[in-house]
Amino acid sequence: MISNNIVVLKTSILDNIQEIDKQIDSLIIENPLFGLVSMKHIKCGKKNCKCAQGEKFYHGPYYYLRLEPDYKYRKYLGKKIPGSIQDRLEVGNKIKELEKKKRKFTDSLRGLEGI
Ligand SMILES: [Zn+2]
Repeated sequence: MISNNIVVLKTSILDNIQEIDKQIDSLIIENPLFGLVSMKHIKCGKKNCKCAQGEKFYHGPYYYLRLEPDYKYRKYLGKKIPGSIQDRLEVGNKIKELEKKKRKFTDSLRGLEGI
């Protein structure tokens, strides 16, 4: 009986994993970006510019896209975050969440296989 229950459990976990994979596949098509947007205020360097008076007068904010894995890559986005970038980052976040969920299922499956 116990082994039967385990089979049922395994099957339902596998179904969940399959469902997650399907969702990830459909999100991948939307050209996801994995990273974040950071912003910065800058000093232009001109002596007579207001920004020379201190941080309070710096220009900006200017937005930059930083990509995983180390976020070192920076792409200048300008004064506004383009909607398309925002959308693609959101898709990337959704995929990361799904992958996290999938890892949990995979771990519990491994746990069951140890029984
Ligand atoms: Zn300036």
